[in-house]
Amino acid sequence: MSAGLEGLKRDVIDNVDGMADRLREIGHRIFDNPELKFEEFKAVEWLTEELEEKGFKVEREIGGLETAFLGRCPNGNEGPTIAYLCEYDALPGLGHACGHNLIATTGLGAGLALCPLMEELGGSLLVIGTPAEEGGGGKIELVENGVFDEVDVAMMVHPADQTLIGRGSLGVKEIKMDFYGKASHASSEPEKGVNALDAAIATFNNINALREHIEDSARVHGIITDGGKKPNIVPEHAGALFYVRSPNNDYLEELIGKVKKCAEAGALAAGADLEVSQQGHAYRPMKPNPVLVEYFRDNIESVGVEVEEQKGGMGSTDMGDVSQVVPAIHGYVKIVEEGVPAHSKEFARAADSEEGYKGMIAAAKALGMTGVDVLGDRETYEKIRGSLGE
Ligand SMILES: [Zn+2]
Ligand SMILES: [Zn+2]
Repeated sequence: MSAGLEGLKRDVIDNVDGMADRLREIGHRIFDNPELKFEEFKAVEWLTEELEEKGFKVEREIGGLETAFLGRCPNGNEGPTIAYLCEYDALPGLGHACGHNLIATTGLGAGLALCPLMEELGGSLLVIGTPAEEGGGGKIELVENGVFDEVDVAMMVHPADQTLIGRGSLGVKEIKMDFYGKASHASSEPEKGVNALDAAIATFNNINALREHIEDSARVHGIITDGGKKPNIVPEHAGALFYVRSPNNDYLEELIGKVKKCAEAGALAAGADLEVSQQGHAYRPMKPNPVLVEYFRDNIESVGVEVEEQKGGMGSTDMGDVSQVVPAIHGYVKIVEEGVPAHSKEFARAADSEEGYKGMIAAAKALGMTGVDVLGDRETYEKIRGSLGE
């Protein structure tokens, strides 16, 4: 790397250090005011105010979402456009147990730290506020509505119990099953009934048998949402919901076909009718860009964070959809003792702890420094654009 880029990276580090207290304060304020998906009005107000105060031009309610925003650094010129993404939604009953308050200030910090260097670097810099990661698929709507059309590289970091850089995520579809039978007295005239619950239970058993023979990385897991009304009535309706997940789009479709067969067989055995439909947004798998991953790894290691080997299972995120249209990274930075799962009370405490803010500051520096790599050397940028994720 040229000495020039090294100097700019040092500037990024100094800039983040200079605003560290402010970033903590905003992170803490968002933590203290948890807002559920699509209702993140306060978080958006605080983040956009901060961006505007530092000279960013902010567009609100972008991509058809009330709590999405796009901040544009006023400096810069010809060249690629990079975007730092902020999440800020909380979980029902648990507050910021996924640490999205820290994702918000990581993206904000990286953007504010890099913006003053944009004249020298060239290109354009955006900070994009992406609502409703938790089950709302905010980024999917932003992708569909063209918000990422002007973006060449997208980056974000999520807090976790380990620092993992190239971790992907699974594509997921939510499958709803309705089984229709016939009600009857379950004791005096059971022979006149058709038991929809039996069809659902047979479906679960069929899927349990299927699971032995699917790819290791895939997941199928479900619940019964309706199992009848009373033991003395043969259930005339039963409902089930399944998540089917895979890191591979084609395999996901193949697996959904097999899961449907399991339901058809269950319904057939019980003599019930079946309706299968897809619910909500389908999340696509995350493809971490391998070139970005290496730059980000070097940068976060250079600010003293130890990166661990990829291990453990994966969930799903709407960043997957972004990674299908532009080169992207979704790194993880350690903020809590290994083994503490996200979406737990302990993880929520970590999201407002000294460790949490330390991780956020390191991640903001590494994101900003990776921005220097992407924009500061056209060869690096071409390598990123030319290299597909897995
Ligand atoms: Zn979460
Ligand atoms: Zn999360």
